[in-house]
Order: sequence, then structure tokens, then C-alpha cells
Amino acid sequence: MGRLLAAHMRVSPLLQILTTAWSIVEVLTGKLLPQQPEGAGIAAAVKVVQEVVTSQQRLPALRQRKQLSSPSFWQVKVRQQLLPALQTLATAAAAAVAAAPEEQQLRIARSLATRVCANPGCLNLRGCSEGRLRSRRCSGCLVARYCCCECQVADYAVHGRVCRQLGAEANAAL
Ligand SMILES: [Zn+2]
Ligand SMILES: [Zn+2]
Repeated sequence: MGRLLAAHMRVSPLLQILTTAWSIVEVLTGKLLPQQPEGAGIAAAVKVVQEVVTSQQRLPALRQRKQLSSPSFWQVKVRQQLLPALQTLATAAAAAVAAAPEEQQLRIARSLATRVCANPGCLNLRGCSEGRLRSRRCSGCLVARYCCCECQVADYAVHGRVCRQLGAEANAAL
């Protein structure tokens, strides 16, 4: 974890984490799923992430940058609050997406395709170096991107169902 914090002292990967955190919350809070999955600690975890992310977003740009590079923000907000909450949410998000009807999976896949990693359960936090963050695309649709092989494998059961359609849509948009 120390290595993770040290590796993330530059601003852009930190923003990436907050963005990823936010998109996991969006999957879970009805923007992408019709109803929030119920389970131990989910509502509380959503609240934690919303609090950390929106309090960050409300700051003026200069203070935002300052906070993102402040060790205490990482120690207290991210490491102690955000990460455990995200772990809970990412697990619930992946399970909810896997259980969703196919038409909904397609909608979710479209939206996750704009992320660094299309795996809904990806936290993209485990010591991800610049190298790991460099995205790899699914060779089937050329739309979905993954941060690593593990995420591509984890998402395959769901992505396999929507891959062809995503590829066709991307082609039609050209
Ligand atoms: Zn990933
Ligand atoms: Zn694909």
C-alpha cells in the first residue's frame, strides 16, 4: 500500500482513481442499473464514495490539485475511507452487471467503454503503473479497453455477449 501511495503522488492517476470510483457508484446507483443492489454495507459505501468525490469536485481547480497531492488526503480519505468502500462496491457492481438482462449489459458496456478499464469490478488501484494503465483493447470489438489481462478475463462472460454489437455500433459511427 505504501508503494501504491508513493506511485500515485502525481495528479492524473489520482484523478483516474476518483473517476473510476465515481463510475462504479454510477453503475450501482441507478444511472446504469434500474435499482441499486441490496447488500451489506452497500448504501454506506455509496455514501462514502459520493462524499469523497463530490467534496473534491466542489473545490476550485487550484485547491483540487493541492488536495490531490496532499499525503493526508490520501492517508485519511482515500486509504482509510475510499478504498474499503470501493472494494465493497466493485464486487457488488460486477455481480449486478453479470445478473442484468442482456439489453442492460449492452448499455452498461457502452458506458464502461469510455473508462480506462471496461471491467465493472475493476478498481484499477493495485499498484497500477503507467505501463499497466496503458490500455489494451478487446480484439473483437476494438471498443472495450482493459487495464490488464485479469480484468479482460473477469469481464469476458458478460462482454462476450455484447462484444459483437459494440463493434457493429462503433463501425456504424465511423
Ligand atoms: Zn481493470
Ligand atoms: Zn469486445
